[in-house]
Amino acid sequence: MMRHSGEPVRHWTVMSQPDSPPSPTRPLLDFASPRRGKPPRHFADLSMADRRAAMAGVGLPAYRAKQLSVQYFGRLETDVAEMTDVPAKVRSSLASDLFPDLLHPLRTLAADAGTTIKTLWRLHDGALVESVLMRYPDRATVCISSQAGCGMACPFCATGQQGLTRNLSTAEIVGQVVDAARAMRDGAVPGGPGRVSNVVFMGMGEPLANYKTVVDVLHRIADPAPDGLGMSARGITVSTVGLVPRIDQLAQEGLPVTLAVSLHAPDDELRDELVPINTRWKVGEVLEAAWNYAAVTKRRISIEYAMIKDINDQAWRADMLGRLLAGHLVHVNLIPLNPTPGSKWTASRPEDEREFVRRLQAHGVAVTVRDTRGREIDGACGQLAATGTDG
Ligand code: SAH
Repeated sequence: MMRHSGEPVRHWTVMSQPDSPPSPTRPLLDFASPRRGKPPRHFADLSMADRRAAMAGVGLPAYRAKQLSVQYFGRLETDVAEMTDVPAKVRSSLASDLFPDLLHPLRTLAADAGTTIKTLWRLHDGALVESVLMRYPDRATVCISSQAGCGMACPFCATGQQGLTRNLSTAEIVGQVVDAARAMRDGAVPGGPGRVSNVVFMGMGEPLANYKTVVDVLHRIADPAPDGLGMSARGITVSTVGLVPRIDQLAQEGLPVTLAVSLHAPDDELRDELVPINTRWKVGEVLEAAWNYAAVTKRRISIEYAMIKDINDQAWRADMLGRLLAGHLVHVNLIPLNPTPGSKWTASRPEDEREFVRRLQAHGVAVTVRDTRGREIDGACGQLAATGTDG
């Protein structure tokens, strides 16, 4: 594998392993099977009004909804047995009715001296997803999955090769954030107790293809405690291939989250190949929606661009991209391609990457090269392909 210049060598360690290997018979591509059942309902799926309404079903008065919210969203308590302010006689029915175990940690891998932690989760129906917690000196970011697999079929993306298994539920996505928040609070990540400051929807799946759920999740993360986790919406990034009507819709939600657009090419001819949804919504339309999003939310757009050697990294494409973006509220994030197994593509040469950066800057466009945290544990964002058998 080609290593990004200047990147330190990283070693990873297996922090936990299942006692027995996951079933080798579980097919990754499961199109032929009957429709999967919805995951069981969980407290985190519910708005505060719905939580209050759900109390009757478990034999509790409505006011207990707030108490449980303080436990789950405020204290990050996921185990009902530990909620000692809840009457003991209802705890077991509460656990099965409203706090089912949705995310079973199958394996945990650490890199970067323990500051990057990838968790492979098994869901109730055997589907596998991953999340990655990355601690930096000044912040901690959790990269979460919004779908099991992905239907967008980008040929350079590991998850894109799998096809879509199913959408995750609100609680399945929120649970990934809660787990990371607990790990930070409990000092499980080197550096002492801390907080998750950023949440990025850059794990498995296309978040805007699971739109209603993702908007629900945004509320659970950003609503003040105890309704939600009370994290800053400004610390949240939703990354998309460019589902134009959904970008327009998101702009109207009143949630100032950052929008990241996975552009990867400035021209339709190449983008049709790299991001197949481009055959539906063209570069010009996607950028138009992005500029509208920036105008409405006042948030700077992040343009994601995987640097693929001799495919999209030519100087003329940098100039073309620079011309498209110049003058807009935008920032380019270049991601050295993390080649998927068997990929015919690899990361750009360092000199081509440098020239690409230089040309974007010459157009006055802000640009950074993303660090490749967790690459050795296949934990680089967008590089998640939960197989359950390696990693
Ligand atoms: N579906 C969303 C979120 C997916 S992953 C989206 O496409 O934006 C987050 C980012 O990682 C995307 O920009 C994606 O294009 C990028 N990515 C996927 N596979 C990659 C790879 N092999 N190397 C580098 N970046 C990759």
